[in-house]
Amino acid sequence: MRVLLILFMVVAIVGCATRRDYTAGESAVCEVHHRTMEMAVVPIYYGLMPFPPRSQALYAASTNAFPHARDFINPSCVVAREREALIYTCPQCVAARRQWETNFDLQHGVTVNRSKVK
Ligand SMILES: [Zn+2]
Repeated sequence: MRVLLILFMVVAIVGCATRRDYTAGESAVCEVHHRTMEMAVVPIYYGLMPFPPRSQALYAASTNAFPHARDFINPSCVVAREREALIYTCPQCVAARRQWETNFDLQHGVTVNRSKVK
């Protein structure tokens, strides 16, 4: 019984420590669309990420047009134990990002299997 209690405590502590809250102290209102955002859990990817031209253009567009449409977090190259992030997302930012991606891909002849895109 005592072993089960200790095991439960370890699982509870480790389970809670694997998600980082990025909403603390942040505004819940999208500064572009002026609407209350939703909370979402996204994966955290550590390390140096590939940054091809499409990703560079997407990042540049996102800062002004859809700042709250991220589907993952890349906080640093230093791997921590957190694997998920709690963030704010704005449905209008997400829609704007999808439209930007569609337009970019059409303009640049990129073929994407949209059935796998959320
Ligand atoms: Zn927005």
